Amino acid sequence: MTTPQQPHPLLAPPGADSPGGAPICSAKGCRETAVWVLAWNNPKLHTPDRRKTWLACEEHREHLSQFLGVRGFLKDVVPLSDWEG
Ligand SMILES: [Zn+2]
Repeated sequence: MTTPQQPHPLLAPPGADSPGGAPICSAKGCRETAVWVLAWNNPKLHTPDRRKTWLACEEHREHLSQFLGVRGFLKDVVPLSDWEG
């Protein structure tokens, strides 16, 4: 039997933009409406000016920020309303 593998969030990023609905938090299993945008960049995978984005609800903003922050990936955390302009 195989152990269910948890896809690494950085290898399997969730869809940042859910079509036709409110943006949903990127945290695994969370279905809350996202209110924060975390902009990040993995220098091993991305050119320096590239930005990947995760969405976060109020509850997961810190968790996701830390996850990216400890790896040195986190570039920016901005309110979703500001991100969308
Ligand atoms: Zn969440």
